[in-house]
Amino acid sequence: MKNLVILGGGYGGMKILSELLPTHLPEDVTITLVDRVPYHCLKTEYYALAAGTISDKEVRVAFPEHPRLKVVYGEVNGIHTSEKKITLKDAEPVVYDDLIIGLGCEDKYHDVPGADQFTYSIQSIEKSRLTYSVLNNLGPGSVVCIVGAGLSGVELASELSESRDDLHIKLFDRGKHILSAFPERLSKYVENWFVRNNVEIINSSNITKVEENVLYNHDEPIHCDVIVWTAGIQANKIVRNMDGEKDGMGRLVLTPLHHLPNDEHVFIVGDCASLPHAPSAQLAEGQAEQIVEVLKRRWKGEEPPTSFPKIKLKGILGSLGKKHGFGMMADRAITGRVARLLKSGILWMYKFHNG
Ligand SMILES: Cc1cc2nc3c(=O)[nH]c(=O)nc-3n(C[C@H](O)[C@H](O)[C@H](O)COP(=O)(O)OP(=O)(O)OC[C@H]3O[C@@H](n4cnc5c(N)ncnc54)[C@H](O)[C@@H]3O)c2cc1C
Repeated sequence: MKNLVILGGGYGGMKILSELLPTHLPEDVTITLVDRVPYHCLKTEYYALAAGTISDKEVRVAFPEHPRLKVVYGEVNGIHTSEKKITLKDAEPVVYDDLIIGLGCEDKYHDVPGADQFTYSIQSIEKSRLTYSVLNNLGPGSVVCIVGAGLSGVELASELSESRDDLHIKLFDRGKHILSAFPERLSKYVENWFVRNNVEIINSSNITKVEENVLYNHDEPIHCDVIVWTAGIQANKIVRNMDGEKDGMGRLVLTPLHHLPNDEHVFIVGDCASLPHAPSAQLAEGQAEQIVEVLKRRWKGEEPPTSFPKIKLKGILGSLGKKHGFGMMADRAITGRVARLLKSGILWMYKFHNG
């Protein structure tokens, strides 16, 4: 039997499983999925988990069951490609024939002193739970500072302001407008929503230092009861520690078939892979489909394609609380209730197909 090991049951790992398990897993191949969490977590909803507007159970999806799928719960602490072996904290090592690494990403603190120590995070389920606990234990009038107004910062600020209108929420962003990756019309729509909902936006900010309950913007101290960091991401530390060429986010540079240039048995999927797009769940899934194609061909003894077409992304949708949203679909900007309904619909479909 050959063993395909998947590290991380996130969006990339789950897509590999859902493509292979029903009909495409050859009789002589087993899959071992390794994750430190005993279910697939819906990371795209962590902003709502942290704000306290959905329950923990709502972001969990059970891993699939199959006679040739073994799920190992454990914390990966080393990838040893020369021995084809994965080491885990407090568990036996796992050996592989083919490996897919989908361990996701972590916060990037851009060397801002104190940021890693004194800010909360929504980049993992464990950290989002902690953030939920501190945010929801705040008394009325408390100040919450959110650093970074990309998609996750905007979604967290809006969700929190809708559920806790007694808090002072300050959203810090480097750009002249928030959501700098989106067209200006969308940024303005979202800024207006924040103005109407008493979220203070601090544009052109530069966070120079963080101390306990103090954020320094251009070296000016600002008191905060809780600081949440949503100002950048980088590949999981395990991947950053691997040998090989990496991009500025610590993501490994791959061949067009998504494996390491010097090892055709090690694939990288999702936020750990250097791809010409911003990391997203959609991208992880698109890439997973292509990796499955390579494996299927190889298992049949056929040559894999030399390259793949560009991964098609459908667009991106963000929420502003439970009733409003914004996004880009097929290069068109959409705002308001329709955008929010579409986002809820996509989540419902995802859970329906994976639940
Ligand atoms: C608030 C927020 C909103 C977002 N909204 C969107 C959106 O609307 N649309 C979109 O497309 N994308 C969105 N994203 C981005 C999206 O969530 C990620 O791009 C996606 O989760 C990446 O998938 P992945 O498979 O690479 O990793 P993940 O889904 O992060 O999965 C990684 C897995 O690895 C496991 N793991 C990590 N380290 C270890 C270890 N050492 N040992 C064992 N297991 C480990 C984790 O438990 C996890 O199961 C959002 C992200 C955030 C934070």
